Amino acid sequence: MRLFIIVFILLLVSCQSNPDKTREVEMYNADGDLVGNAKISEKPDGVSIKLKLEGLSPGLHGIHVHEYPSCKGPDFKSAGSHFNPEGKEHGLMYPKGAHLGDLPNIEADAGGLVDTELLLAGATLSEGKKSILTGDGTSLVVDEGKDDGVSQPAGNSGARIICGEIKTSPGNKDNSGSPTDPTQFNGKQEE
Ligand SMILES: [Zn+2]
Repeated sequence: MRLFIIVFILLLVSCQSNPDKTREVEMYNADGDLVGNAKISEKPDGVSIKLKLEGLSPGLHGIHVHEYPSCKGPDFKSAGSHFNPEGKEHGLMYPKGAHLGDLPNIEADAGGLVDTELLLAGATLSEGKKSILTGDGTSLVVDEGKDDGVSQPAGNSGARIICGEIKTSPGNKDNSGSPTDPTQFNGKQEE
C-alpha cells in the first residue's frame, strides 16, 4: 500500500512539473500547408527555438517573433509587428536595437530545408514583459529574404512566407484518456 501511495504521488508530481515551459509550434506557409515545426523551451539566458522547415528557397531568411498569436495567410499581417516590449528599434546590428523578437537569419540548404536551433536572447516563457507567452501569446514568422539587421522597421526582409502561432494556452487537448491519468493508473494497480 505504501508503494502504491508513493507511485501515486510521483505521478501527480510528474504531471505538474512541466506546465508552461515548453511549446511545440506548427509552422504553415502562405498556402496553409504544414511545412515544419518549432520546439520552444525556456533556458537560463533566453528561449531556445529548435526549428525544422521544408520548402524554402535556398539561402538566408529573416525570422522574428511577432506580437500576436495569429497567422492568417497569405500575408500573415495578422501577426502584427516584431515583438518589442521594450520600445526599441529593429535590428541585431542596429545601435538602437534590437526588438526582443529579432533573431539571426536562418539558412535553408540547397534542398530548401532548415534544421537549426536559435536562441531568443533575454526572452522567457514565464511571467513578465519579456515573456513570449504574454497575453494570448505571440508568433514565429519567416520572411522571404534576409534581414539586413539595420533597416527599419523589419530589416528589409520581404514578404512573410511562413508563420506559426505560439499560444499561451495551447489547444484544449483532451487528456482524460491519457495513460498517465493517475485515476486510471490507480484502477489498474488495485486489480
Ligand atoms: Zn525587429
